[in-house]
Amino acid sequence: MSEELLSKRALNIEPSLTLQISAKAKKLAAEGKDICNLSAGEPDFDAPKEVMLATSNAIFGGFTKYGPAAGDIELRNAIAERLNTQSDTNYDFENIMITNGAKQAIYNLFQILINEGDEVIIPSPYWLSYPQIVKLAGGKPIILETSPENNFKIDMNKLQSKISSKTKFIIINSPNNPTGKVFNKDELREILEIVRKNEHINIMSDEIYEKIIKKGTKHINLASLAKDLKDRIYTINGFAKGWAMTGWRIGYLAGKKDVVKASSSLQSQSTSNVCSFVQRGALEALKMTNDYFDNINSKYDERRKILYEGLKDINNIIVTLPQGAFYSFPQLPNNSISSVDFCKKVLNDFGLVVVPGKAFGNDQCIRISCSSSKTNIIDGLQRLEKAIKNYY
Ligand code: PMP
Repeated sequence: MSEELLSKRALNIEPSLTLQISAKAKKLAAEGKDICNLSAGEPDFDAPKEVMLATSNAIFGGFTKYGPAAGDIELRNAIAERLNTQSDTNYDFENIMITNGAKQAIYNLFQILINEGDEVIIPSPYWLSYPQIVKLAGGKPIILETSPENNFKIDMNKLQSKISSKTKFIIINSPNNPTGKVFNKDELREILEIVRKNEHINIMSDEIYEKIIKKGTKHINLASLAKDLKDRIYTINGFAKGWAMTGWRIGYLAGKKDVVKASSSLQSQSTSNVCSFVQRGALEALKMTNDYFDNINSKYDERRKILYEGLKDINNIIVTLPQGAFYSFPQLPNNSISSVDFCKKVLNDFGLVVVPGKAFGNDQCIRISCSSSKTNIIDGLQRLEKAIKNYY
């Protein structure tokens, strides 16, 4: 396509690295090659039956028309209540907007609050869409590196050094994609202290993996730790991961009322309301009990452990124990092969599909998903071990 045709905004978007690899994997599988795919970014089970039933009842009950741009009041109220109970936040429905997935909540938030040249501090490794969404809003991603040697912990001095008068946001993502890191209270408090001292900075806290967490580890809603910063913390969450509702496209933004209102105006002029009957399903999803999450988490715990133990046994790989989400982000033995080349080679030579760390801001790591059967994970680990022995 002619570059003159595309807007500067469109030219600025980086093509997805992962798409190339998954297209290649599909092609090889169609040709009959034995492929082991550990690249999944979504649960490998279905949404709860109760959610499906509530959704189909909503369809047959005629709940299929346009609705309010910010979402159904019933669902907004239920989410506010949930946050208030969990985190003592004192929200009402006007603090909540329903979005087409958590991704659109982030997109709208940055469109509404970022001006040309505003800076957003993004700890790396990061979910690959953050820098792109920041750039689309005219902002500048400022990358704050963390490393597997240091358990992906944020160095507060480094964070301080990244702050300027233009800093508008810091992004926190816990549990983290791709590292599986879950921030503890002390780490979060240290970050909040820095934000407290810098009144021009807001936090976007992406908590989409909240429900996928290792037994014994606790997810902390950032807003619950700093009531004084209530107007500067924006919580992003959704139903995609915990409730296995990725394709349903439903998430939410929680934060200051006038920002939620402005964000809803943007929604009203772009996508309008989120699918009406899916919102009924989400309302039902909020009623799922702890037993449901304990059950899925015991499966993830087992798979995460197999993946972690297997990776630890591979020579010269650095791996940290993920405490949440369903990924591991090991570091390759050295940087003689870029993560993109490594992923292409390991697919060609061993039929293993994993995601290059470059997409997440670290070119010496790869992302491996344990959202797959145990047999598949074990198979993938064997292929990876052979590849590492071969290449290094
Ligand atoms: N944040 C993170 C960290 C994610 O990994 C994802 C999805 N991969 C999203 C947000 C977007 O979630 P949704 O599907 O609800 O848009």
